[in-house]
Amino acid sequence: MALIVHKYGGTSMGSPERIKNVAKRVAKWHDAGHQIVVVPSAMSGETNRLLGLAKEITAQPDPRELDMLASTGEQASVALLAMALQAIGKQAVSYAGWQVAIKTDSAHTKARIRSIDDTKVRQDLDAGKVVIITGFQGIDELGNITTLGRGGSDTSAVAVAAALQAAECLIYTDVDGVYTTDPRVVSDARRLKTVTFEEMLEMASLGSKVLQIRSVEFAGNYKMPTRVLSSLTDPLMPLEEEAISGTLISFEEDTKMEQATITGIAFNRDETKITVLGVPDRPGIAYQILGAVADANIEVDMIIQNQSVDGKTDFTFTVPRGEYTKAMDVLNEKVKAHIGAASITGDAKVSKVSVVGVGMRSHVGIASQMFRTLSEEGINIQMISTSEIKISVLIDEKYMELAVRALHKAFGLESA
Ligand code: ADP
Ligand code: ASP
Ligand code: MG
Repeated sequence: MALIVHKYGGTSMGSPERIKNVAKRVAKWHDAGHQIVVVPSAMSGETNRLLGLAKEITAQPDPRELDMLASTGEQASVALLAMALQAIGKQAVSYAGWQVAIKTDSAHTKARIRSIDDTKVRQDLDAGKVVIITGFQGIDELGNITTLGRGGSDTSAVAVAAALQAAECLIYTDVDGVYTTDPRVVSDARRLKTVTFEEMLEMASLGSKVLQIRSVEFAGNYKMPTRVLSSLTDPLMPLEEEAISGTLISFEEDTKMEQATITGIAFNRDETKITVLGVPDRPGIAYQILGAVADANIEVDMIIQNQSVDGKTDFTFTVPRGEYTKAMDVLNEKVKAHIGAASITGDAKVSKVSVVGVGMRSHVGIASQMFRTLSEEGINIQMISTSEIKISVLIDEKYMELAVRALHKAFGLESA
């Protein structure tokens, strides 16, 4: 008998029929003698619907109220799943994050989990119940409901698994594992049986939304065995078969030694590029620009400072598309005049494409192969950033899918 956490995404919870299937699958695991905690997302489309309603009321909704609103999606799905389990004879109880409690900081719409109290959950599990906890949300010190950012139910699930010292966290989704790239963009993408924690961290941080990055961080920090697998298979398929399906995030480096140099291609459509032109090239400038952006809680990703001409330079960086307007406002209102910049320009239609692989450490020439492939397709590279195990380029968004397909082929990632 083991304690196992299941997470079901929006598509997996997308209709009463699908919820009944989730209940059947969960009951199968429970019948096999396991203690099961389930962390579901809102039904597919629901979070978007709720956020859309907010936008119809006001262009800039109060983040606290957005969290009150968006968190209701998951609240509905946990109750429905509890009912579905009870209807097939299982004892089940649902909780919202605040009832557990899952405590977070107060950064509304992108809060971080600080602690999880496992008392109530353990009591219920010991009483033979399936425990269902809302994904995506928690409560801050002041008692406000917070949410963890889009895709945050993954993080809730792995954090709950870590808090309960579960044997495994199973992330059920609408694909049957982690692929060399998004199978919706490249139809012959190949499923990976295992992916190293480091690679998964890069893939997630570079835009592969199959797992939210913070969930991968939790998995790494707590060495939580985490597997991505399909919720769309027959819920009554043999448990032994299901338990080894999908993709396991592995913590063993050695297993990769003989594998390909490149593991996958990640991409992020939602990038924007901001350039502060004609800034005096003196110490403290980067701090004054990026400090103001960071104070507004906006994440900056790629950064370049151009060579200086006559004591003036240009400073370019990227921010997520959702934060573009806010970043431009901060720069125009608080920074431009203060540092004596000539002007500020932006491009909200750029995307980032990255090749990822721990094998890159021991191979040279990956960057040049990547750049050659893009040049053969006539794709202009606007910015580049590298780490030991990834190379990212910023390109015009209209070439993104072309770039992903060309690189996937050039690095021989397709299924045989
Ligand atoms: P859920 O609602 O279950 O959380 P998401 O839509 O958040 O599901 O994540 C699953 C999706 O991630 C897949 O449908 C797929 O389109 C996308 N995806 C992006 N990159 C990858 C990848 N490398 N491997 C598998 N899926 C990927
Ligand atoms: N429902 C939330 C979202 O759509 C959280 C999640 O699905 O993981 O982003
Ligand atoms: Mg998701």
